[in-house]
Amino acid sequence: MNMQVSRRAFMKLGGATLATSTMAALGFGSGEALAASVRPYKLASATETRNTCPYCSVSCGVLMYSIGDKAKNARAKIIHIEGDPDHPVNRGTLCPKGAGLIDFIHSDTRLKYPEYRAPGSNKWERITWDDALDRIAGLLKKDRDANFVAKTDAGLTVNRWLTTGMLAASASSNEVGYLTHKVARTLGLLAFDNQARV
Ligand code: SF4
Repeated sequence: MNMQVSRRAFMKLGGATLATSTMAALGFGSGEALAASVRPYKLASATETRNTCPYCSVSCGVLMYSIGDKAKNARAKIIHIEGDPDHPVNRGTLCPKGAGLIDFIHSDTRLKYPEYRAPGSNKWERITWDDALDRIAGLLKKDRDANFVAKTDAGLTVNRWLTTGMLAASASSNEVGYLTHKVARTLGLLAFDNQARV
């Protein structure tokens, strides 16, 4: 059959077809099927935790989202990290390093607990946090007792300890930074720095 379709009729037909498919897409056709395909927001059931990017002295605020119901036999897993829009430092922005924090957290090579390598040994061994802190405290005391300088040869009071230094991380609050500074200076440490410049 030879069917002649004028240009005007063709445009009308095309318009009607487009309108029909658009109506279906808007849910006026097979509505239930389309409604069921809506994806839930992936962070809707996640736990939000505020933290600080550990990489540099800018100390940007981050929001970390984890899943896991916090039951004793469940392990939480961080699934998303983004800049904290309420943080006064970065107002929600992150540089590429901060934006890649999720990979740092899940890296196979990330150090998660203290390790100790004995003198002469070629391997690191896991130790408890209590053992690590006791060892650090013991070594600090031993070195300070041996090297603390109260007065110079000329009799000038200096109260300084130059044979040990301290480097702290940036993931701490103003209050923790203030206390860290007080402890270090009270001990007489001069070689002291922190990624967040306390
Ligand atoms: S997001 Fe970038 S600029 Fe901000 S603290 Fe981390 S490394 Fe520094």
